[in-house]
Amino acid sequence: MPPRMGQERLPVVALRNVARTYQMGDIEVQALRGVSLTVGTGDFVAIMGASGSGKSTLMNIIGCLDVPSRGRYWLDGVDVRQLDEHALARIRNRKIGFVFQSFNLIPRTTALANVELPLIYAGLPAKERRARAEAALDLVGLSDRANHLPNEMSGGQQQRVAVARALATNPALILADEPTGNLDTRSGEEIMRIFTALNEAGRTVVLVTHEHDIAAYTTRTVRVRDGLIVYDGPSDRVRLQPTEASQVVPASETADTSQAATSQAATSQAATSQAVGS
Ligand code: ADP
Ligand code: MG
Repeated sequence: MPPRMGQERLPVVALRNVARTYQMGDIEVQALRGVSLTVGTGDFVAIMGASGSGKSTLMNIIGCLDVPSRGRYWLDGVDVRQLDEHALARIRNRKIGFVFQSFNLIPRTTALANVELPLIYAGLPAKERRARAEAALDLVGLSDRANHLPNEMSGGQQQRVAVARALATNPALILADEPTGNLDTRSGEEIMRIFTALNEAGRTVVLVTHEHDIAAYTTRTVRVRDGLIVYDGPSDRVRLQPTEASQVVPASETADTSQAATSQAATSQAATSQAVGS
């Protein structure tokens, strides 16, 4: 029985005691040493940790690019242990939108065609593909760049195309491994504002970052150290400078808002722990 979240809804991600070991000749590298994690619909999670702590291994397992050596994983209620390569590829395409550090766009192929690609794999008719890809490009503010090639766009724009591509299939989960790692500060903020808007529209977003400024956009932070989760709780939210904040809302309301955000994160955290049964 997959773990339950609240009354009826299954979590998008449920990992239970997941370990991943790599065999390097005679040496066994324990990249993950028993990780349990529940991500609910609408969560906005930053996975943080030092280099080599196991973040990418965790993301690869969540993204069905890799499978646990031990433990269980349910993706949107499906036990991935029962799936062969082919079925894993299918569930990956249907349920997950990936964003990578290095954009991974197909060169010499327009932005629109890049966004359409996963929809071809999904077997959508041409007309619907076009409409969905155009809508996704519109969401990231790149309607006017649809016919540009990757090398005609800035890094920030290329990453926005990659976000549009991740969105186009309407996935249950958006996964991003260091999505701002190759971007300047401003472009990175732009990407994080897009993820924030997507999350506010109900999307589930999990990203890896080692930058506090980036994690501060999310509502929940999971900290990994030596293959274990050592913290899972509210993120340190972006705090506007008093001058900036007062331009938006009076100071007293600002305080209320940040408190509400914190308690909301705490509530979702409590729900999560309940679902895990810990
Ligand atoms: P992070 O993304 O946090 O930098 P990784 O998940 O990439 O960490 O790696 C965690 C540990 O597992 C590291 O010690 C790394 O060297 C090791 N590792 C990762 N991938 C492999 C692999 N394919 N083969 C062997 N060891 C690996
Ligand atoms: Mg990594």
